[in-house]
Amino acid sequence: MFTDKTITCKDCGAEFVFTANEQEFFAEKGFTNEPQRCQSCRKARKANSRGGNNSRGNASPRPMFDAICAECGKACKVPFEPRDGRPVYCRDCF
Ligand SMILES: [Zn+2]
Ligand SMILES: [Zn+2]
Repeated sequence: MFTDKTITCKDCGAEFVFTANEQEFFAEKGFTNEPQRCQSCRKARKANSRGGNNSRGNASPRPMFDAICAECGKACKVPFEPRDGRPVYCRDCF
């Protein structure tokens, strides 16, 4: 009931085949729109949107604050803002 169909990619203009199998899959999922982009452009878009959504994730390091170790007096960095009256220790002394 489905036949292979050639579609021109919206992004790169390359022709790609929307196969009968894929059309069947789309129909099963209830998708009514045909794919607009070839597989490589779809992959590229997916990769881009994934990067955008997770920009707050592991990619960006936590802010580090300069501090002076209360034990050895060395300058160090801590992942929280040092407050007056609270001793801060460097990685070695902690
Ligand atoms: Zn393309
Ligand atoms: Zn120290």
